[in-house]
Amino acid sequence: MKIVMLGAPGAGKGTQAIKIADKYGIPHISTGDIFRANIKNGTELGKKAKEYMDQGLLVPDELTTNLVVDRIQQEDCKKGYILDGFPRTIPQATCLTEALASLNDALDYAINVDVQDEKIVTRMGGRRACPNCGATYHVKYMAPKIEGICDTCGAELILRADDEPATVQKRLDVYHAQTQPLIDYYNEKGILKTVDGDKDLNEVFSDILAILEA
Ligand code: ADP
Ligand code: AMP
Repeated sequence: MKIVMLGAPGAGKGTQAIKIADKYGIPHISTGDIFRANIKNGTELGKKAKEYMDQGLLVPDELTTNLVVDRIQQEDCKKGYILDGFPRTIPQATCLTEALASLNDALDYAINVDVQDEKIVTRMGGRRACPNCGATYHVKYMAPKIEGICDTCGAELILRADDEPATVQKRLDVYHAQTQPLIDYYNEKGILKTVDGDKDLNEVFSDILAILEA
């Protein structure tokens, strides 16, 4: 099963992608996580990506696309995978379609997690991330067992720099200008499925499962 998750930043793509990956035993590939790991490890890619991420801008396509095209050809992707945060531009989507076509392959689903902008601002303001293992929480909707501490590794949780309110608005503008057109792109390919991301996260998951198991 090969899936891409679509939706605004903070819509809940990562939250759902982890649950889907767990359920089907397929890798969850998040370009945001890959960039953050590179930043943490001080790689050249990390240094370049950080300049864009801190401003709420997209990392250039040429730094992003090859990374994903290589990743999906690894052994653990044979049964499928779930892409979270990629593609984010039409050129990225086109490269992915072409790379898959050259392998006689194609995506099965593009799942669009639909949430209004006003709601996104609350979601991102309450998101807390673990700088050590990358786990994500929400102060209200997905609170850790001990306030401010990661359940998985015990590190202190942070508000991501790009989740600061000033950057969130910029990221939403970038989303509408560059990423939202992918909804039409995948609709035309006949694989778009939209779920109401405003619901409780377990309900959103059930709605996604209903699509995948239909
Ligand atoms: P994305 O990967 O799309 O940027 P996340 O999955 O990180 O978004 O979700 C953004 C924030 O909203 C997180 O703090 C997460 O815990 C919370 N969240 C995700 N889905 C829901 C939901 N259905 N209802 C309420 N909060 C949610
Ligand atoms: P995310 O964790 O998906 O919210 O991504 C965090 C940031 O990483 C984004 O705001 C972008 O700056 C960058 N990023 C992640 N994925 C991509 C992508 N496919 N194309 C360009 N930039 C990306």
